[in-house]
Amino acid sequence: MTAPHDGSTPPVPTQLDAHHGPLADARAQLAAAVDHLGVDDGTHRMLAIPRREMAVAVPLRRDDGSTAVYEGFRVQHNFSRGPAKGGLRFFPAVDLDEVRALAMWMTWKCALVDVPYGGAKGGVAIDTRDHSGSELERVTRRYTSEILPIIGPEVDIPAPDIGTDEQTMAWIMDTYSASVGHTVPGVVTGKPISLGGSLGRALATSRGVAHIALMAMASRGMDPSDTTAAVQGFGKVGRGAARFLADAGVRVQAVSDIDGAVWAGDGLDITRLGAHADETGSVAGFPGAEPIDPASLVTLDVDVLVPAAVEGVITEDNADHVRASIIVEGANGPTTNEADAILGERDVLVVPDILANAGGVVVSYFEWVQANQAYQWSEREVKDRLEERMTRAWHDVVEYAGAHRLTYREAATALSVRRVIEAHELRGLYP
Ligand code: NAD
Repeated sequence: MTAPHDGSTPPVPTQLDAHHGPLADARAQLAAAVDHLGVDDGTHRMLAIPRREMAVAVPLRRDDGSTAVYEGFRVQHNFSRGPAKGGLRFFPAVDLDEVRALAMWMTWKCALVDVPYGGAKGGVAIDTRDHSGSELERVTRRYTSEILPIIGPEVDIPAPDIGTDEQTMAWIMDTYSASVGHTVPGVVTGKPISLGGSLGRALATSRGVAHIALMAMASRGMDPSDTTAAVQGFGKVGRGAARFLADAGVRVQAVSDIDGAVWAGDGLDITRLGAHADETGSVAGFPGAEPIDPASLVTLDVDVLVPAAVEGVITEDNADHVRASIIVEGANGPTTNEADAILGERDVLVVPDILANAGGVVVSYFEWVQANQAYQWSEREVKDRLEERMTRAWHDVVEYAGAHRLTYREAATALSVRRVIEAHELRGLYP
């Protein structure tokens, strides 16, 4: 921000000027929660403005000797309940406002499932498909060294998100550890098991999505064996969610990824589809299934829709045409606020991201606890504790929504915001 010519102090940047996109939606959701809870303006602004943000240039020496430079970000939205926690995204569309929105949603998500973290998010605007493994390693290490002053096991703990995986986390851990002079497994979660990763972490988000989807179906009297579903995205979240739903007897009729979409009336064989995607890089061309327009996936005639790719795919333009009666948000921010209102009027049950996909951060928390204790839990222990937390969060949201006549998103946000405010007030304002 440039100083005014008259020398007076510039106004505090409110960052309340996003009119469209995930950040505008996240702020409007916060404003609705603040309104419902009767929170004062100062506290509202504390929650609307991220506590700390870092924008960095990430230069890369490419394999051919040329130099590329990418924009990278890390936003720490809130620390009231503990260190900041959130994924790192490598995706071309990453920008600061998106990362701000995702960081805010992380704060609410951590509060909702009651893990002792605030929210953060990071991103680099890069297309991983255009880069070799060694280029991605150099980008990851350079980005890590740029944000190193603001991360750490007690400060901010990154994890995988779109375009990043356990290998990315291993490089971050190694870069951080080399810089501080000793191995620090607790600086990231979602690590490989051999480096202190938690059993059950890789599939935790998907497992949580499926668990929540099954509870949502039960709440509407739907029997899984008589239910159909479509899943958008076949990455870390979508693939596992499709598999767990199919394991529960749901007919997963359609799946898409960035390159295409496939449909089979009797249900897709998710294991075979996974093998096909591993081999070819996409679900497209899966034998025995019909190719469909990926854009049509969200309006297919199925009972349950699981968007598990990117933000803003269910909008005011297609919400009227959604035929599923339940939407379980595996992705963060897949439904715009305008679409949410339309779906609400149509009595479509939308299970919000901060509840539906919270399984990942729950097991990330378990991984961090295990790293700090240098002790490994069994997979059974991880799965049971995950299910217990997801079930508790589901019932908290359902009860609050019923008691206050709110949608599940409004209820989940209000509950979370209330928990963050409680921590904020107990700690007081320094100085
Ligand atoms: P990923 O990179 O493993 O997979 C993303 C998938 O989405 C890929 O199959 C990709 O091809 C597909 N995709 C991208 N753009 C698409 C489009 N326009 N249409 C259809 N498919 C598209 O990422 P992920 O970790 O599975 O994350 C997916 C979503 O889940 C993101 O919103 C992420 O923030 C959220 N999430 C992830 C985790 C986690 O533990 N990984 C936890 C909570 C939430």
